[in-house]
Amino acid sequence: MKFLAFLLIGIFVWLTVGGWPEISAKAKPARFLVVVEPSQPVNGSPVLFRVKTDQMLKSLTGVWLGHRVAFNFDSSNGEWYGFAGVDLATKAGRHALQLEGALTTSGRSNSTEFVTVRKASYPSSRLRVARKFLDPDAETLERIKEEQAIKREVFRRVSSNRLWNGDFVAPVNNIVTEPFGVRRVFNGKLQSTHQGLDFRAALGTPVNAMNSGEVILAREMFFEGGMVVVDHGQGLLTMYLHLSEIKTKEGNRVGKGQEIALSGATGRVTSEHLHVAIRWLGTYLDPATLLTMKLP
Ligand SMILES: [Zn+2]
Repeated sequence: MKFLAFLLIGIFVWLTVGGWPEISAKAKPARFLVVVEPSQPVNGSPVLFRVKTDQMLKSLTGVWLGHRVAFNFDSSNGEWYGFAGVDLATKAGRHALQLEGALTTSGRSNSTEFVTVRKASYPSSRLRVARKFLDPDAETLERIKEEQAIKREVFRRVSSNRLWNGDFVAPVNNIVTEPFGVRRVFNGKLQSTHQGLDFRAALGTPVNAMNSGEVILAREMFFEGGMVVVDHGQGLLTMYLHLSEIKTKEGNRVGKGQEIALSGATGRVTSEHLHVAIRWLGTYLDPATLLTMKLP
């Protein structure tokens, strides 16, 4: 009788699982070795997680600071890598990176790694811009509202494929005039944080795409002036502002280092320069850090 029951259960498992379950693969979870770049991220840092496992994985996903991290496999060294970032508002301390891998043998393995985030010390600055940017009239407010809707639409976009490849390159070969994260006071009242990097750029300096991707916005905006946004896939965007001339179109594919615009002094600026910003899933990150990172 007992034997019959076991036999029936056995047949049932065989039919539902499609074979005998691989007890050994399930019993032994994969071990994860995680390396974080930069090794000591701060609030505002882009980060690259490199993951090695002692068992082959079909896929790997992560959750970091409430965002899903997409991982890609680098067959040259057998590592998985995922691009992510630390929001400016993130508190210093240890934050969990939750990993879940699908094993090639069958089954899944989980791991939680803790990554220490330090507090960045960002300076402050005061500057003056034309009054219309602080106190826009009714017509301009309408325009600002429309442009906010356009940006919301563009920023919502997350292409599942990675379009970037290797290191990011500077958009112009000039010095940085204002770093990321500076707390700014406009005309003594409006306070905001500088969510990008300013490069010195004489009017008409060629501006190059920092990596390969697809142009998802290329138009004139009130605050940003001439603006181009390039989608690099998996939630990563680069933005180029205050342009005098746009040399690409929405929907175009661009290569790393390809000229996409000429720099200018359009929008809310004090003088001609190039402002670039990096956005990852709604979070602005320090482009200067991204430019120092070695990426697969
Ligand atoms: Zn700027």
